[in-house]
Amino acid sequence: MTSCDDRTVVFHQGRVLSRPERGEAALEITRSALEALGLRFDRSIPVDVNNAPHLFVQEVEDEYLAAQLEEHFSARFQDFRRFPNRLDERVWNRLSRARALLEWHRAYGYCPRCGSPTLARSNGGERDCTNPECGTLHFPRTDAAIIVRVVHDDRCLLARQPRFQPGVRSVLAGFLEPGERLEGAVRREVMEEVGLTLTTIDYFGSQPWPFPMNLMVGFTAAAKFPCLCLDGEEVEAADWYTREQVHDDLASGALVLPSTNSISRRLIESSLQDL
Ligand SMILES: [Zn+2]
Repeated sequence: MTSCDDRTVVFHQGRVLSRPERGEAALEITRSALEALGLRFDRSIPVDVNNAPHLFVQEVEDEYLAAQLEEHFSARFQDFRRFPNRLDERVWNRLSRARALLEWHRAYGYCPRCGSPTLARSNGGERDCTNPECGTLHFPRTDAAIIVRVVHDDRCLLARQPRFQPGVRSVLAGFLEPGERLEGAVRREVMEEVGLTLTTIDYFGSQPWPFPMNLMVGFTAAAKFPCLCLDGEEVEAADWYTREQVHDDLASGALVLPSTNSISRRLIESSLQDL
């Protein structure tokens, strides 16, 4: 069901139309404004039927149209992970759902079982295989990943992956494998990446991470011994940091922390309070 209250957030190449300098993480554009620019609102997908019945999401693929939108709204398409301020959790979750849905619809255009085209149904909440002999119904999926802050005595482990921006160090992370418990994934990833055995593992919290469609499940853990053995691939450097070292290295610019909007940042900030 649609109404004149309908608004849509617009993505282009995974980035959302926003005005960061005005603190607007995502512009919610009205149906009339969107259609005035030649965009068809009926190609939008509802973001959250229960909590935001009139909010939709739409992907703009055309470069020219994307540039038009930026100019018309004095806005720009931005990766909301890099939004300078910490986003309200409700805003983060809404944008996460919007982006994850777009990614899922893009990825599931063809049935993974038989290769036939799929069609969106139920307001974009499912995609059905068009092959009558298959007929599989596909629903949006979420892949779990673990993220863990490891401490030993009064020091916290900060590691660097080759793909990180210069100076950035963070906590450890990895994907849950089939048949694995979350705690098992924590133990395995920490052993594989830095060679540490853990004594305790505690749940910290979770965060939707729609890049492309993940849930980050956060933990804190204690290492039995501090001796590190790096895998040299996923982790190119890792060191133990006291709270004072973190503060000193941040002040000198030797250390850069991950985005303020990531659970990894919250894990590191909490360790600065706990250590
Ligand atoms: Zn099929």
